[in-house]
Amino acid sequence: MARTRYYTCLVCGKKFPEGQGIVIRRAGVELAFHSKACFTRFCKLFLERIEEKEFKRVARELMKEFEELQKQRMKQKVI
Ligand SMILES: [Zn+2]
Repeated sequence: MARTRYYTCLVCGKKFPEGQGIVIRRAGVELAFHSKACFTRFCKLFLERIEEKEFKRVARELMKEFEELQKQRMKQKVI
């Protein structure tokens, strides 16, 4: 029997089972959030505190990517 892993939301401290909530693993860091609201709260602070140069680079890159996706979706609607 597989044991369910539990995470603790780093924003509010609530515990939640694996498969629920939002868990991000990167560069040896694990970030767990029990809800979108907690994730959003963390992200807002994260974006405010991240180095401006890096913020600008990634923000512009993602803006372009989403713009492209929207263009593709518009084309599909026409057909
Ligand atoms: Zn939470």
